[in-house]
Amino acid sequence: MQQTQTPAAAPAGKSSSFFPQQGKGNFFTPAPPMIQRATADCNDDERLTVDSAVSEAFSMITRAISIMDTVPLPPGVNDALFLSFRDTSGPTRNNVRRRLDIVRNNIRTATYQCVSSGEDGFGRCTSRSGKTRAAYTLHEGEGANTVYVDNIMICFPAFTTKSLAERAGTIIHEVAHYYLGVDDTGYFHDNCVESVRPVAATDEAHEDSGTEGDAPATRLFNADSYSCFVHFLTAMPPADMASRAAGYRGENLSIGAPDGTTIYTQTTFQEDPIFNIEGIPDMEGNQYHASGMRFKWVLHAGGTNFRMMSRNDAAASHLFDRDNTQAFVSNTVRGILEDRGVTSGEVVCTVMLPPQNIAGNTGQVTIERRLPVTIARGMDPFNAPI
Ligand SMILES: [Zn+2]
Repeated sequence: MQQTQTPAAAPAGKSSSFFPQQGKGNFFTPAPPMIQRATADCNDDERLTVDSAVSEAFSMITRAISIMDTVPLPPGVNDALFLSFRDTSGPTRNNVRRRLDIVRNNIRTATYQCVSSGEDGFGRCTSRSGKTRAAYTLHEGEGANTVYVDNIMICFPAFTTKSLAERAGTIIHEVAHYYLGVDDTGYFHDNCVESVRPVAATDEAHEDSGTEGDAPATRLFNADSYSCFVHFLTAMPPADMASRAAGYRGENLSIGAPDGTTIYTQTTFQEDPIFNIEGIPDMEGNQYHASGMRFKWVLHAGGTNFRMMSRNDAAASHLFDRDNTQAFVSNTVRGILEDRGVTSGEVVCTVMLPPQNIAGNTGQVTIERRLPVTIARGMDPFNAPI
C-alpha cells in the first residue's frame, strides 16, 4: 500500500473577524451543524477536539461557498483563485466551486480515526524528514488511479498543538485528499505564503518541491491549494488578498540602486554600484524568495546590450534565473564602455512570471523594468588612493 505524506495545512492566523455578523451584508454564517460524527479509537477529549475542528471547517467552507455564490462576484474571489491556483478562468472557478461542494458534503460524514503521534512512526504521524504531522490519509495507486482508503487519521497530541483555525484547515486538506483524489504537490507556509522550491527539486509535482512557481494544473491537484483557498476567502481581508495578488503579478517590481546610478569605467570593486530588483513577494534578504519569478539583466549602452554579472550566481545574468535578483557591471564591460566613449545607458531587468491563467489568458507573462544610468570615465573616486 502506498502512503501519502499529509502534514497539516496549518495556515496560521486564520480569523473570521473581518466578516460581517450574521444577517448583515451578502454573507451569512450558517448555524452550527448538529454533530453525530463517526470517529474511531478516539477518547472523549479527542472526539471533542475532532468535532470542533470539523464544525469549524464546515463553517469556513460554507462561508467560502456563499462568497463564491455572491452576485456580483466579490473581487476577493478572483484574488483567492489567483493566490491558490494561479487561475482566474471561469471553468476553473466553476470547478473549484463544485469541488468545495464535494468537500462540504463529505466533511461531516467522513470517519476520523484518532492515532497516537508516537506510535505510527515513519511516514504517517512523522514525515520522511522527521517532522511531526497533525494528520494523514493513506492511498493506493497513483495519479488518476489514486484511491484514498481507510479513515482520515488524526494524530494526537500533535493535532492539539494547533489553533482551531489551523485544525480546520488540516481537516479541509485531508478531506480534499480523500474525496477529490488530489495529492500533495507542495505545502504552503503559515498564512498560506508560498514556499521555496529546494534547489535539488526538479519535479514541481513532488510533495517536497514547495509551491513556488507551480503551474495551475499542479495547484489544482494539490490538497493545500483548497485549504488555502478557503483560508484566503474566510480569513484574509479582501484588501490584503488584492495586495498580495498584485505582488505576485509583479506590480511592485522596480530596480533599486542603493549605491547610486553612476558606473565608473574603472573600479577595484565591480559590485559597486549594485542593482537590485525590488518588490519581489516573500523575499528573505536579497536571495531567497518563493515568488517563482525569474530574472535576467542587460546593460543597454551605446547601442549594445552588455551582459551584467549576478551577485548571487557568480555568473552572467543574461539568462532567466531565480537567483538573478542582484546584478552589476564587470570590469571587462567597463573597459569596453571606456574604449567606446559611452556616457549613458539603461540597466534593464526582465522578469518572467510563473505559468498562470488570468481569465483564460495562459500566455507567458514577462515584465520589464528600466533604470537610466550615467557612465563616467575614469577611476571610481571611492576606490582612488587617499
Ligand atoms: Zn496532504
